[in-house]
Amino acid sequence: MTHTAQVVVIGGGQAGLAVGYHLRRQGVDFVILDAQTTPGGAWQHAWDSLRLFSPAACSSLPGRLMPPQTGETYPDAQHVVEYLVDYEKRYELPVERPVRVLGVYRDGPLLRVDTDSGTWQACAVISATGTWWRPFLPAVPGRGAFGGRLLHTVEYRRPQDFAGRRVIVVGGGNSGAQIAADLAYETQMTWVTQRPPRFLADDIDGRVLFDAATARRRALDEGRTDTGGVASLGDIVAVPPVREARNRGLLKASRVFTRLVPGGVEWADGTRAEAEAIIWCTGFRPALSHLAPLQLRGRRGHIATSGTRAVDEPRLHLLGYGDWTVPASATLIGVGRPAREAAREIAGLLA
Ligand code: FAD
Repeated sequence: MTHTAQVVVIGGGQAGLAVGYHLRRQGVDFVILDAQTTPGGAWQHAWDSLRLFSPAACSSLPGRLMPPQTGETYPDAQHVVEYLVDYEKRYELPVERPVRVLGVYRDGPLLRVDTDSGTWQACAVISATGTWWRPFLPAVPGRGAFGGRLLHTVEYRRPQDFAGRRVIVVGGGNSGAQIAADLAYETQMTWVTQRPPRFLADDIDGRVLFDAATARRRALDEGRTDTGGVASLGDIVAVPPVREARNRGLLKASRVFTRLVPGGVEWADGTRAEAEAIIWCTGFRPALSHLAPLQLRGRRGHIATSGTRAVDEPRLHLLGYGDWTVPASATLIGVGRPAREAAREIAGLLA
């Protein structure tokens, strides 16, 4: 069966909901297709102790402040899920679940969206599928030889799963630091990072990061010198559990090993460490396989965008994937502005 809508939004996480809010304000007829069975996007799958790096009031989508979480300055992932459930309901956003989009195709003046439960035709498509679904693991020699557990951030839940074990955490970003801090008490944890960890000053959190990203965007828009944005400040927000583990001297990092060996890892100088598990906190890539039929990837596999609009397919917008599709757009507070711009542009296109 073929359904129609003026706009199909692919993904019902925070980015899909934020753009839904603005499409509704523009009076556009739209549907949001989400592969999950329940609301909350990637936040439903986060590890138990994950904390936002901004207070609730600074983690809000357009139109509705995130309420504070009782007893916590930095809310946990469950609090974000509850906020997104409420947001979706409050604005009566038309989300269809579970619907997985398999491919987007050009179909004359329309775009055709093939899903695992039917086909949609639309004048425009907004892809808001996030990155959680495409974990990135670097190629390291000896993977087949290791014999222990190899996990990515997306599979980590709680330290009790590794109690007493030798665990290596790879990665010097926020995920690596938070998971290393989580494991520091109950396991024999080794933290390895490509360069010495760069903790942000204790009084810097997501609010400051958002301001830095905004200042950078303005500078670039106005042709001024690149301010360096967030990266110039450091990599790791010292949320309370990270701060505490660091202050206790439990977050000392070694350089990354060069290969895996049976039952452990080996550094370039031949030093070895034994491990039963290695957790790769090595980032993500945008989940875009459904856009492959449009053949938009240019050099280096990137889809060229102007703001959120695909340069070679103006009926397609990409929202929430990070700096590539507008600085800070992969954050709760940062996705509102590009969502508004995308909805406006699309309303203009439809008119
Ligand atoms: P997602 O939440 O991943 O939602 C995308 C939705 O699209 C999902 O429901 C998915 O199932 C669906 N989908 C995917 N493919 C398809 C398909 N083919 N068909 C249909 N549906 C599909 N941001 C902050 O603001 N503050 C923080 O403190 C913070 N901490 C973070 C910590 C970690 C560890 C990570 C990874 C990210 C963090 N972020 C934070 C960044 C960001 O806010 C989250 O990554 C957020 O989940 C991104 O939202 P999204 O809507 O873009 O993607």
